[in-house]
Amino acid sequence: MTTAVPASAPVLTPAERRSAELEQQLNRDPGRFRVLTGDRPTGRLHLGHYFGTLRNRVRLQDLGVDVFVLIADYQVLTDRDTADRLQEYTDGLLLDYLALGIDPARSTVFTHSAVPALNQLLLPFLSLVSVAELGRNPTVKDEIAHSRQSAVSGLMYTYPAHQAADILFCKGDVVPVGQDQLPHVELTRTIARRFNERYGQVFPEPAALLSAAPLLLGTDGGKMSKSRGNSVPLGATADETARLIKGATTDADRHITYDPEHRPGVSSLVLLAALCLERDPHEVAAEIGDGGSAALKRTVTEAVNAHLAPVRARRAEYAADLTYVRSVLREGNERANAVAERTLGEVREAMGTFR
Ligand code: ATP
Ligand code: MG
Repeated sequence: MTTAVPASAPVLTPAERRSAELEQQLNRDPGRFRVLTGDRPTGRLHLGHYFGTLRNRVRLQDLGVDVFVLIADYQVLTDRDTADRLQEYTDGLLLDYLALGIDPARSTVFTHSAVPALNQLLLPFLSLVSVAELGRNPTVKDEIAHSRQSAVSGLMYTYPAHQAADILFCKGDVVPVGQDQLPHVELTRTIARRFNERYGQVFPEPAALLSAAPLLLGTDGGKMSKSRGNSVPLGATADETARLIKGATTDADRHITYDPEHRPGVSSLVLLAALCLERDPHEVAAEIGDGGSAALKRTVTEAVNAHLAPVRARRAEYAADLTYVRSVLREGNERANAVAERTLGEVREAMGTFR
């Protein structure tokens, strides 16, 4: 028997297909899975993080999946000389996680620099990939184009293999991420497969879990990024949010439509409002109609501020107790260390050569 596919069905990429299958399995048997995902402490978390990955993390935690969240401090140095304001940005990430509902009793938040055994996996993993494979990673190429360094460091080319260590040290099999991370998850799958083939089965082959907004655009029309001055931070005030959205790039056509391919700037704003309002983006666009970008931006600002108001209130409460907030990281680091040492032990045993 064949299954009829409607002519209009979108063609899914292999990663999108895997993500959709994973979503079904997660709902059936959440206890079987472990999530690893994270963020670089390079600035304030923004709406792209929220709709691209953060909401998925909290949803999975609440479903009963074991969630590990990495504050990727060593990877700050991929595209800059020094890790400035690291404590401030790390505190900010912790505040956002807690305000959004990451529960330290159920989820583990940790940093690279506090978990040596995780970093030690990088050496065997690097031996499993070729220089050519590292060099053709499209996300790395994009990040080099936006880098603030005059020379490209070795860390820039190798951090995707480091990211494989991030995911595999805890045997993560679900990686809720934005679209920019897909090449890295692909490399992680390759590393896991090659390690298992060469030394015996140790690692799962993880898959990316994509959201409805895998690539939210920033106010300049490029990928919304912490480091590119084009983001709307989750912890911004309502006024700051209004000012940032007012400055967003749109186009000359007054009639508002949802057409991501031909009108990326306008459509990203429409999508943002729709996600906050839990409505269909085409309907939101039709309602604004001939109101132009001023009306669109008003709608988006109100929707974002209303949606984030409770999160921002909780964030302010946690900000008043930084001692507690930092203790969450200390405990997470302890848990992550125990897991990393166990995995490193298995790796040494499988490889049979090193002590
Ligand atoms: P930086 O500019 O410093 O690299 P960033 O905004 O790209 O910061 P990361 O810490 O690199 O943020 O990414 C953290 C996670 O958020 C990743 O899973 C990434 O895919 C996701 N993410 C980042 N930006 C977006 C976006 N604009 N839309 C959807 N997901 C995003
Ligand atoms: Mg990034």
